[in-house]
This record gives sequence, structure tokens and C-alpha cells, in this order.
Amino acid sequence: MKRILVNGAGGFIGGHLVTRLKNEGHWVRAVDLKQHEYTQLPADEFVQADLREQSVVKKVVEGIDEIYQLAADMGGAGYIFTGEHDADIMHNSATINLNTLHYGRLSGVKKFFYSSSACMYPAYNQTDPDNPNCAEDSAYPANPDSEYGWEKLFSERLFLSYMRNYKVEVHVARFHNIFGPLGTWDGGKEKAPAAICRKVAMTPDGGEMEIWGDGEQTRSFLYVDECVEAVRRLMDSQVSIPLNIGSEEKVTINQLAAMAMEIAGKTIKLKHIPGPQGVRGRNSDNRLIEKSLGWKPSRPLREGMEKTYRWIEKQAEIKYGVLTS
Ligand code: NAD
Repeated sequence: MKRILVNGAGGFIGGHLVTRLKNEGHWVRAVDLKQHEYTQLPADEFVQADLREQSVVKKVVEGIDEIYQLAADMGGAGYIFTGEHDADIMHNSATINLNTLHYGRLSGVKKFFYSSSACMYPAYNQTDPDNPNCAEDSAYPANPDSEYGWEKLFSERLFLSYMRNYKVEVHVARFHNIFGPLGTWDGGKEKAPAAICRKVAMTPDGGEMEIWGDGEQTRSFLYVDECVEAVRRLMDSQVSIPLNIGSEEKVTINQLAAMAMEIAGKTIKLKHIPGPQGVRGRNSDNRLIEKSLGWKPSRPLREGMEKTYRWIEKQAEIKYGVLTS
């Protein structure tokens, strides 16, 4: 049994990770600014505190063998691509990462996981929706399209430099659009699959819903259970270079919306409006992770969307009352 710290445990992926680590029999300390909104976490300790505070981090790393660092100031396109939150995103997330590494190392933590993002890949390789390049070695020359991506790139390098200079074990994943139940689905920080599921759930059959841009931008989406499995494999491996964790099942946003409508049994007209979209095309490149960890997603997008849609439909019902379907 290991003593594990999960930073960002009150969030979407961190919450799922705590459950997985507890199921494996580990002792888990969970830290977040907020309690988990949608579930009671099975953590041994939950510390509600701010990881930007040095005194907090100094304390929560005590007695810990491994840290999973997932806490970040983050959200969907409506939060990270408008430019309005750039200073906070960079300051908050970098401070958390600096504190975690500094105090973790001083306290004798030997192993760190860091959740980077596909947003660190250069914009110039993601202009063609049909042929984006997100191979791990395409990261440089760097040119992420958002400050969120630049901060991820900086922090990847920060973790890797601690590995080189202080001989701690470091594993870095570049997540590509993780989705599933128990994630933010409302309020402005939600990502595309959750936002689309909510809109479909709350729009009557025959109605109309808004999509940012022309909906022809491409992405791939990975179900959260698959993500957690890949993270655990990465953490137990000898791989110390950043790896993509994503799906290669690329779809347009219009196709994603059509999938959600089909699951709901509704026909809804898409109204394309101007809005933040991020890069034009993005897809995970899983060649390296498949070769080094033998991992690839086991289930199709449709299956994860079905589970996510049902969960969001239920949440919307609880929050907004009976839906018009
Ligand atoms: P999330 O927003 O649900 O979780 C992040 C958590 O960090 C939140 O609960 C938040 O309260 C917490 N946090 C933020 N600032 C904090 C602070 N100062 N002190 C303590 N806690 C703080 O996001 P998520 O989707 O679970 O993502 C987890 C990690 O994975 C993040 O680092 C994110 O950047 C990265 N990532 C996620 C995706 C995705 O598709 N979900 C894609 C790429 C990268």
C-alpha cells in the first residue's frame, strides 16, 4: 500500500483517479479548493485548501510516497480561449506546480505524475482539420495557441528538470479532451462533449441549439475510465518522456452533436454562432503510447457519450426541473 497525494481531487479526472487508487488498496490524501460537486470521494483524507499557498503544500506532502498533480485553473474553450483569464490561468497553475515540486521533493516524495495537455502542441500543425499532427516529437518549435498551453509546456519542462537535477521519478501525460460523468457540465467551464450533451438534453425535439463556429473543427474525445487506466499504466512504467493519452477517433463538433441527438432520440437544428473554438483540427497520436505501454482506448466514442449523456440529462433534470423532450 502506497501513501498517495492527489492534487485536484475535487475535479473531474482527479475524482475518478481517487476512486481507482482506493480500489487498488492505496492510502489516499485528496486536496482541492472545493469538495467534489457530484460524488462523495472515498479518499482517506480530504483537505480543502489552496495549493497556491506554500504553507498548505508543505503540509499536504508530508508522509507521501507519490503525487498525482492534476490541480489547474482550467475550463473549456469558453474559459481558456477567450484571453480574459490568461493571467490567472498562468499564475495559478504555475504556482501550484512550482509548490508541488519544491515541497514534494524537500519532503522526500520520490514519484510525480503531471497532467499536461494537447493544448501545448503548436498551432501551426493543427490548421488542417483532416490532418492535424500531434505526435509527441512535434512539440517544438513551440507555438501553443493559448496561454493555458504555454503554461502546460512550461510545467512539463519544470517537472522534467526536477527529474534530471533532483533524481525524482516523473511521468507526464498530454491529455486530449477527456470526458465522462462527474465532470463540469454547466456554468462556463464545461468542455465540448458536456456542453453538447447539456444543450441536447435541454432543447426540445425539433428545437434549435447553438454551436460555436461552423462545427467543422475536429477533435477526439477519450472516456475518463480509459484515461485513468492509461495514467496508472504510465505511472507504473519506466517511461519518462511525455506521452499522449487520448483517442484517435476523430470527429467534427457537428458529428459529436449528431451523436448526442441520436442518443437522445431528438432532432435539433444547429445554429452556428461566433465563439471561441481553439485550433481547427486536433487528434491524438497514439503510436508512442501503444508501443511503450501497450495501451489504446478499448471502447468507441459512442459508448462513452451514451453514459455521459444519461448522466448530464439527469443532472439537468435535478438542477432545472422537468425537461421538455
Ligand atoms: P477540473 O477543473 O475538473 O479539475 C481541476 C481541479 O483543480 C478543480 O477541482 C479545481 O478546483 C482544482 N484546483 C484549481 N486550482 C486549485 C488550487 N489553487 N488549489 C487546489 N485545487 C485547485 O479539470 P480536469 O478535467 O479534471 O483536469 C485535470 C487536469 O488534467 C488539469 O491539470 C487539466 O489541465 C488537465 N487536462 C484535462 C483535460 C480534459 O479534457 N479534462 C485535457 C487536457 C489536460
